[in-house]
Amino acid sequence: MDFHFNAILDIIADWRRNKEILQDLNLMDKFRETHQHFMDESQLTFSKQQETLLNFHFGNLEYACGTSLSNISSMNWDQNEDYPQFSGRNVLMADGFSTILDKITENLDIVYNTEISSIDYSDKVVVKSSDGQSWTGDKVIVTLPLAVLKNGIVQFTPPLPQNKVTAIQQLGVGYMEKVVLQFKERFWSDKSSPSEVFGRVETEFSRRGLFGVFHDLSKENASGKSCYILSTHISGDSVEILKQKSDEEIISMCIETLSELFPKKKVPKPQKYIVTRWYQDKHIQMAYSHIPVGATGDLYDDLAADVQGKIYFAGEATNRQHPQSVTGAYISGMREAEKVFTSMAIS
Ligand SMILES: Cc1cc2nc3c(=O)[nH]c(=O)nc-3n(C[C@H](O)[C@H](O)[C@H](O)COP(=O)(O)OP(=O)(O)OC[C@H]3O[C@@H](n4cnc5c(N)ncnc54)[C@H](O)[C@@H]3O)c2cc1C
Repeated sequence: MDFHFNAILDIIADWRRNKEILQDLNLMDKFRETHQHFMDESQLTFSKQQETLLNFHFGNLEYACGTSLSNISSMNWDQNEDYPQFSGRNVLMADGFSTILDKITENLDIVYNTEISSIDYSDKVVVKSSDGQSWTGDKVIVTLPLAVLKNGIVQFTPPLPQNKVTAIQQLGVGYMEKVVLQFKERFWSDKSSPSEVFGRVETEFSRRGLFGVFHDLSKENASGKSCYILSTHISGDSVEILKQKSDEEIISMCIETLSELFPKKKVPKPQKYIVTRWYQDKHIQMAYSHIPVGATGDLYDDLAADVQGKIYFAGEATNRQHPQSVTGAYISGMREAEKVFTSMAIS
């Protein structure tokens, strides 16, 4: 099924090389159409179990895309693959990104926990916070999440130019949430070692984004005491399920899932847990960007363009080559810092 799923994506990649295609389709419909065509032509039949395995692959791709495949462009969903990408193994930042951030922000004057409410660039750039503070400068780099830009929480004066507004409106915002559980024992030890993952195949299509992969984040703390942690995610349409449930209900569903995965074990109640709700956090409101049906990667460039050499934009949604990632966000910050530095050196 692995091979079949990737083969269908390859066929779709071939299809869009045909320059005469006039109409984009969402990736879910295009996948289904191509899959059906393949089944008709090959006269193959898949077992119920094999069909169900497709749910895992859909869920996994929706995890990567940060949204349902029904929302994304089959023409341009993976446009960044046209640029060189990073290779090598995935790396887990076991102690979080602060390990890096603390180092690179050493000796910098950073104002934390302060909400910016307006940016006026009619003359000098004046940035104001909702608690009444104000900063004036020649230039500013804005790294607000795309969803925050969409909702107009920060007011720009004069309003941003039309191509910027269009990019903000058109580029897609996806949702993904995490569930992290701490247990008193590592009942899953037969399935994975610390830092490894184990997956799960969901039989119901509508729940394909629920708890598809579990990351084993167990580790010893400084005093040598072991901490047994599993982290999983909820992606695509399944985020709607999360929105309807309390944290306790989500945890019960997750424990039920783990009990099905480990039928011979008595899965205990977690000692502690976290259910994220970034979708409703005023300052986040999203997971990462995607290219919706009918749009192209140009939107990333439009979002990255500076305005009058005064307002510069960074963040994952401004990085056409490496969107949707911490790496992309980091590189975009370096890119804009370089642009500001160069423009000031020239002027
Ligand atoms: C569940 C999940 C799993 C992920 N997994 C990975 C992964 O494995 N690898 C990977 O590379 N990426 C991953 N990502 C994506 C990655 O987290 C994002 O692409 C990245 O964090 C985007 O960085 P950013 O700087 O553009 O935005 P953000 O990290 O969202 O930073 C924007 C900042 O702006 C602040 N802000 C918002 N409004 C205001 C305001 N009015 N005033 C002042 N500040 C404000 C916010 O508080 C926030 O700190 C994942 C994302 C999610 C949700």
